[in-house]
Amino acid sequence: MVQIGDKFCSNAADPLIVEKGESGGSLTALYKFLLEEGIVDAVLAVKRGADIYDAVPVLIDNPEDVIESAGALHCGTLNMAVIIEKYLRGAFDIKIAVTTKPCDAMAINELIKRGRIVRKNIIMLGINCGGTLPPVPTIKMLKSYGINQDMVLNEEISKGKFIIEIEGNERKEISIDELEEEDKGRRENCRRCEFNIPRTADLAFGNWGVIDSPKNSFIEVLTDTGAEILDKASNKGVLRLKKASADGIMVREKIDKIMVNQAKKWQEKMFSHVEGEFLAVLFKYDADLSRCIKCFACKDSCPICYCSDCSLKSEIPEWVNNAEVPPKPLFHMERLMHMADSCINCGQCEDVCPADIPLSKISHEINSKLREMFDYTPGIDDELPPFSYFLIKRG
Ligand code: SF4
Ligand code: SF4
Repeated sequence: MVQIGDKFCSNAADPLIVEKGESGGSLTALYKFLLEEGIVDAVLAVKRGADIYDAVPVLIDNPEDVIESAGALHCGTLNMAVIIEKYLRGAFDIKIAVTTKPCDAMAINELIKRGRIVRKNIIMLGINCGGTLPPVPTIKMLKSYGINQDMVLNEEISKGKFIIEIEGNERKEISIDELEEEDKGRRENCRRCEFNIPRTADLAFGNWGVIDSPKNSFIEVLTDTGAEILDKASNKGVLRLKKASADGIMVREKIDKIMVNQAKKWQEKMFSHVEGEFLAVLFKYDADLSRCIKCFACKDSCPICYCSDCSLKSEIPEWVNNAEVPPKPLFHMERLMHMADSCINCGQCEDVCPADIPLSKISHEINSKLREMFDYTPGIDDELPPFSYFLIKRG
């Protein structure tokens, strides 16, 4: 009987899924099983679009199509919470299994707390994440190393290296530290991120801690739902489960710890460390914010910003006059006050800002100040009351 806290090494029984899937295809096999058994109506995953730099969200309801989503895409910078809340009506009338990086799982949990997504209709299959890469800068980075982007078959991030498999059995390994010293590697929000294992999902999949065969996944069971579906899939012979070894568990913990320490160093390097109240951070970034053209892309892409009747888009009061560009600082303050307790540093706002304003860094820094004040982590400490908790507590 599978239980919360259990850790396994596993691979798919289906050889095609093992071949196409990442790390033995356990996650792909589980998706196929959930659809075949009618446990979910659809699977929300990501598949390769035009090339490996183009991650496309896909809603799959035919078990035979699940194979399309097999394999990892490190330039996949989407946030699944936005798709569920905005385009799948918060899963109020559909049962979905969804692939979640830690930031997806945290954003989904924030929206569950606000009644925007129905928890009982969501199964979160989490994937460990050491960071994602921005597609266009990554293509430029490949060129700077003399690599033709069209010749790249696959890429992965492992043991501090960005590993590129190139046509003709060639392979190039570049140190992530080396890349990031030149400001080329992972997205900036990912460099600062301390959450590598999606502990708010139902199951966490990855290859950290797999020490016997690369064709295996390491799975951690995080909820009763996760335990139940893993149990069923194993009994049905869809997955081959083996208890994870003590050495494997130790290696996984060690990798996680290294990544957390790296993230803390990046926070130290990137944050402004402004003294005083948490919103004082905003004034430090005044010059950046003055480039704002008020396009609202940051609001529209943010998983936590969901109000359809947004005060920032109204003509009244005067300070949000839509004709005024750049907007007064209160425009940004208003949004940050809404976001402050729940920003999960997903980077979506910064990715889309046409004025290159470091929005995610600003929100992350403010949120970190709040975390210090209240010892709270959005999407993790879910027993706390939701939205406005801090504002209420501050009186
Ligand atoms: Fe993500 Fe930016 Fe919203 Fe924070 S403010 S949750 S980083 S989109
Ligand atoms: Fe301003 Fe950038 Fe947000 Fe557009 S995306 S409203 S330019 S901060």
